[in-house]
Amino acid sequence: MMNSELPEDSPRRRLRERLEGIQVRTDKASSWRETAEPLKPLINREGYVPVSARLSGEDLEFLSDAREELLVFTELGIRLLDLHQPRDAGGITSDAAHPILRCRSCMWRWPCPSFRAMTEAFLSPDETGPPSVPGEEPSGL
Ligand SMILES: [Zn+2]
Repeated sequence: MMNSELPEDSPRRRLRERLEGIQVRTDKASSWRETAEPLKPLINREGYVPVSARLSGEDLEFLSDAREELLVFTELGIRLLDLHQPRDAGGITSDAAHPILRCRSCMWRWPCPSFRAMTEAFLSPDETGPPSVPGEEPSGL
């Protein structure tokens, strides 16, 4: 990973600015978890809960784009997950039963930093244990 700002790096900078913009908007908006939970038993026969809500400007800002932005995020996550997969590195290994695996996209040793970043972001700590690799015995780690 490079820290120096190259001229051709501006798409990278724009991408970061866009992500940080979404992050800031989302962070400023109210969480709906505690508001939504008590409303669930009130769903009527038509499948709706008629509510009146007080929305701040930040909430409206967030809500107006939340669906599209979340869809973009999940699409991105799924594409990254497809890109960063383990493959058998082949070559020299001291243990034929447990070959060294590398990411087929970035070639880091598996689990690669991108995959680890995704698991840390989306899974709880007890779900981020040793990754299951097809054909590998869990006890081999
Ligand atoms: Zn990778």
